[in-house]
Amino acid sequence: MENWSIAYQEAIEELFDGLSEVRWFRNPDLSLLTTWRIGGRALALVEVTNEEELVFVLSQCDRLGIPWRVLGRGSNILVSDQGFPGIVVRLLGSLAECHLLPGNRVEAGGGATLNRFISFAVRNGLGGCEFLIGIPGTVGGAVVLNAGCFGGEIERLVERVLVRERNGELRWREKHEIFFSYRGSSLKETSAVVVRVVFQLFSENPKRAVEKMRHFFALRKSSQPLDFPSAGSVFRNPPGDYAARLIEQVGCKGLRLGQAQVSLKHSNFIVNLGGARAWQVEYLMEWIRKEVYRQTGIWLENEVELWR
Ligand SMILES: Cc1cc2nc3c(=O)[nH]c(=O)nc-3n(C[C@H](O)[C@H](O)[C@H](O)COP(=O)(O)OP(=O)(O)OC[C@H]3O[C@@H](n4cnc5c(N)ncnc54)[C@H](O)[C@@H]3O)c2cc1C
Repeated sequence: MENWSIAYQEAIEELFDGLSEVRWFRNPDLSLLTTWRIGGRALALVEVTNEEELVFVLSQCDRLGIPWRVLGRGSNILVSDQGFPGIVVRLLGSLAECHLLPGNRVEAGGGATLNRFISFAVRNGLGGCEFLIGIPGTVGGAVVLNAGCFGGEIERLVERVLVRERNGELRWREKHEIFFSYRGSSLKETSAVVVRVVFQLFSENPKRAVEKMRHFFALRKSSQPLDFPSAGSVFRNPPGDYAARLIEQVGCKGLRLGQAQVSLKHSNFIVNLGGARAWQVEYLMEWIRKEVYRQTGIWLENEVELWR
């Protein structure tokens, strides 16, 4: 272990030994916390269950200079084989719950899974969010990345967001204060933490909403390799085109290195056939990027985020 890593480890022990109410774990295996099932360990995993714990833990990390990241469901990240030398924070407890608000609105914690939020809304006679069914992330991860599919993006449902700003303050931000883009947002750029989100939905017959969910899930199942661990689309679609189409066109579909393989079902997915390493996925990504550039002049940008 590097010297600086040992120094962080000591600071972490000191910090959490005095915080008996916060659950934390030493050296968590991040491969178990990502949908790719790939990656090394972090120095610590901290589970915060309310705003006060979140603000306190992050301000202490900032004060001590310990690197930290918020982890949702780990469905859009590639953790390096060496792991992440810092603290990984998960939002659980009250920060993963959903509540009904007047006016067809739902407040969801940043740590709630999208599937939980959608089923809560539908059970309460609300709709508009069904298209997101099957995206295996959290509300927080989906809002910072402006997750989307089938022509829609989560942005259209957002009314306001409670964020922990980079300076440590908690603040409600109205939608018009947030800039959403294709798989990104100003929240991501400013390293804001999404603590809670209020969604504006509409009244919907639960039977009809369930039918829509079935429809969208069937579309997903028919086009995506859901039988193997992955992180969804690896590259962003370039303007006016599809990364999957380009990858197939340049002959990279099915390319394999060790247990990592460019999916035969969806060329923009790299699947873990069992025991794939992060370096193998990264190597495949670079190979694809160069091959697409060599043959088409288009430079593919990552959609997945690398944690190292
Ligand atoms: C099979 C499969 C299908 C997928 N299909 C789609 C799809 O159709 N459309 C789509 O857009 N994506 C899709 N994805 C990708 C992924 O599910 C989404 O990007 C999702 O929004 C990521 O959420 P997460 O909670 O897993 O975030 P993570 O992967 O845990 O984190 C991603 C980033 O978000 C940050 N983050 C997480 N939570 C918070 C928070 N509360 N506040 C601030 N930052 C936070 C993390 O720090 C990190 O930078 C798919 C993935 C898989 C595996």
